[in-house]
Amino acid sequence: MASNGTSITELEHAGLRPRPLIDPFQRRISYLRVSVTDRCDFRCVYCMSENMTFLPKADVLTLEELDRLCSAFVARGVNKLRLTGGEPLVRRGIMTLFTCLSRHLASGALKELTLTTNGSQLAKYAGELKALGVERVNVSLDTLDADKFRAITRWGELAQVLAGIDAAQAAGLRVKINAVALKGVNEDEIADLLTWAHGRGMDLTVIEVMPLGDVGEARLDQYLPLSMVRSRLSERYTLEDIDYRSGGPARYVRVKETGGLLGFITPLTHNFCESCNRVRITCTGTLYMCLGQDDAADLRSPLRASESDDLIYAAIDEAISRKPKGHDFVIDRRHRRPALSRHMSVTGG
Ligand code: SAM
Repeated sequence: MASNGTSITELEHAGLRPRPLIDPFQRRISYLRVSVTDRCDFRCVYCMSENMTFLPKADVLTLEELDRLCSAFVARGVNKLRLTGGEPLVRRGIMTLFTCLSRHLASGALKELTLTTNGSQLAKYAGELKALGVERVNVSLDTLDADKFRAITRWGELAQVLAGIDAAQAAGLRVKINAVALKGVNEDEIADLLTWAHGRGMDLTVIEVMPLGDVGEARLDQYLPLSMVRSRLSERYTLEDIDYRSGGPARYVRVKETGGLLGFITPLTHNFCESCNRVRITCTGTLYMCLGQDDAADLRSPLRASESDDLIYAAIDEAISRKPKGHDFVIDRRHRRPALSRHMSVTGG
């Protein structure tokens, strides 16, 4: 029930908008990231261990339940939805979910419906995504060297991802490339990735490796501070600081020589929490109010307990009232274990 005892559905019928989601630090929650599956066709070394145990099917929300949950957030003022995973495009029937959610684009409630993908299935789905109103996609790609790509992803084929990117651009989707900076692996290649991405009209964001989940390799061996990436790129390119913010944690510069944007996501060396407008749900309906904290709320029980959405709204409100001010990741020699036990594939990055 809404605070005055009227149900949200009644409020909507009366033409009144339900209250927006505002956290205790007066941040308005307008962006929801949804991990639609914990499964992936890759096993990136910084993300998953080689032998992952995946969730039993009964624990995972059905596509109808995911639609209902996302729609509850949209009704409460979320205007940007990003589907992620695991790999969102390996979830069976995923286009049904995109089709359902696209009604919120048509109604104007959603400004953006998008996804983060490893690109392996993009050749198959790019046209359909564009037709449903998806305008841009983020593709994760850490190297253009096929052998290195195989070593990083364990199971991936570079050519398949490049074909996916071609298909996305041919379908009219804007593509942004996300690359994780990995010490001794792709650190020498980031300038080439930049030249390639900007040459094809794609922005590039470089991500600092985050200490999420035990992946069987010491984080210190993977961790490369982006301050080093930036200073090396500066030897080849002129990086101009700009005010542009995508609403997310990336800080952007414009590369003078290419005209393209280069983003840096530095959760470990930079604090971006003060402007955080986002929350995340997993494929089991667990709501994480912060990527870097363990606190979470179960939305699956209220979802399954009643056909009315009022229990869900109450659970969301209660959870948002606990959204923390920020996170506290640490990678140093005293903290060799992951800062959080869950993998990025659970909350979707
Ligand atoms: N499968 C999709 C993909 O590849 O983009 C979506 C899920 S994936 C978990 C989302 C992003 O998180 C990818 O860009 C991946 O590189 C990044 N990622 C995974 N584990 C990470 C970690 N420990 N630190 C930083 N980024 C990570």
